[in-house]
Amino acid sequence: MSDVRNVIIIGSGPAGYTAALYTARASLNPLVFEGAVTAGGALMNTTEVENFPGFRDGIMGPDLMDNMRAQAERFGAELVPDDVVAVDLTGEIKTVTDTAGTVHRAKAVIVTTGSQHRKLGLPNEDTLSGRGVSWCATCDGFFFKDQDIAVVGGGDTAIEEATFLSRFAKSVTIVHRRDTLRASKAMQERAFADPKIKFAWDNEVTEIHGEQKLSGLTLRNTKTGETTALPVTGLFIAVGHDPRTELFKGQLDLDEEGYLKVDAPSTRTNLTGVFGAGDVVDHTYRQAITAAGTGCSAALDAERFLAALA
Ligand code: FAD
Repeated sequence: MSDVRNVIIIGSGPAGYTAALYTARASLNPLVFEGAVTAGGALMNTTEVENFPGFRDGIMGPDLMDNMRAQAERFGAELVPDDVVAVDLTGEIKTVTDTAGTVHRAKAVIVTTGSQHRKLGLPNEDTLSGRGVSWCATCDGFFFKDQDIAVVGGGDTAIEEATFLSRFAKSVTIVHRRDTLRASKAMQERAFADPKIKFAWDNEVTEIHGEQKLSGLTLRNTKTGETTALPVTGLFIAVGHDPRTELFKGQLDLDEEGYLKVDAPSTRTNLTGVFGAGDVVDHTYRQAITAAGTGCSAALDAERFLAALA
């Protein structure tokens, strides 16, 4: 068992690295668990990021994350490319266990484990990510000016994304497994009234085509089994997100969708000394800049909490 640290940060996306930077500069010597496979977070899987302020010409996702990592390290953050496999956050001293079974102790913990977008589970989905396949219209819509694109899903997010994308695209086809939408009435009416939006009802995507870039989809009718080709250069997958909160169940309060609950506008959770930031908390904005912003808030909340203990 290690000595008691000031703060442990679980997760290494924009929220985790920003919390690391701030707590490191406050001389709190943070220990950051970056995750074993996905250190750097969601942006490690994308190409160009054009909407993170400060990069006039855009920056590749992995480069942005390398910069954030190096900046936190420069001020003394201790970064470990490992997963946390167990936590006990209930006491005054929190414990965090790594994959080797080592138990780390801290007075404060910041949770920034992000959320995982649901995938269709099709070959080519990952290889064409950032090359036509996307999970974020706000991030990537701009790249699809005057193009034919498809959105998969039938909930609020899918319809909101389709409506947003129709500003840029030549056409947007919503591919939905059923013949009715789950989205709110108001959202549906907006989509039905939009001349650029078409619907492929009772259809699912069964194949994603393309070598270097997406060139089209194969759809299958869920009622008749009939297959059709849909030539599109953009595919936005909006079938939901799963916040990574499994580890915290039974200790931290979660909402009905599994997101971490915080006492907004602070980042305090239901447990004293435990703070949450980034996409693990946020079902609304889900941007790198908002994750970084709340990561900063969590660091400042933790810093004040620790100062009050002293
Ligand atoms: P994440 O970036 O998801 O990071 C979470 C981290 O927690 C990961 O490193 C993971 O390894 C770690 N972790 C999870 N569980 C554990 C554990 N048990 N132990 C240790 N570590 C753990 N946003 C934009 O603003 N602009 C864009 O252009 C843009 N493009 C995107 C493209 C793609 C393909 C995707 C998927 C997202 C994109 N986003 C974009 C959204 C943006 O990536 C997210 O909003 C942001 O990364 C969220 O940051 P986060 O720190 O909350 O979580």
